[in-house]
Amino acid sequence: MNEALRRLVEAGADVVGFNCTRGPETIMKLVESATNAGIKVPLAVLPVLYRTTDEYPSFHSLPDPKTGERAFPDMDCLLCSRRDVIEFGQRCAQLKIPYVGLCCGNAPHYTRALAESYGRRPEASKYSPDMAMHGWLGTKKDVVDEHYSVTIKSFQNNF
Ligand SMILES: [Zn+2]
Repeated sequence: MNEALRRLVEAGADVVGFNCTRGPETIMKLVESATNAGIKVPLAVLPVLYRTTDEYPSFHSLPDPKTGERAFPDMDCLLCSRRDVIEFGQRCAQLKIPYVGLCCGNAPHYTRALAESYGRRPEASKYSPDMAMHGWLGTKKDVVDEHYSVTIKSFQNNF
């Protein structure tokens, strides 16, 4: 793979990298190899949002864990978690990858998680989960109680 990247650089590419097919965990093996190989231009990395494996490196080949049949194109049962995305982003940030993104299977909450993993605070961060507000596990009980009070009244008024 690194030879292909070197050839692209020799042909004049300003940026090389990996887009689509592999999920965050398995694409990082290629990224780390490219980083260690000393590719002389910035790397770009955009994995799919499916949990590909060494056995099934392409998301198109992943089996549905329930049926054992090829899941594509009904891939929801194989989606990454936001934690997967955050770990991917943190590792890319450690490696100083200047261009990261997400490909097939992406949704706004994943993009927000990736941005936050790079230390950014996009406008959508106002919708990020705040566990302090959690009804059972939160620490802001006065706010949580008010929220649940309003929610329960709204529920009662609608039914
Ligand atoms: Zn894709």
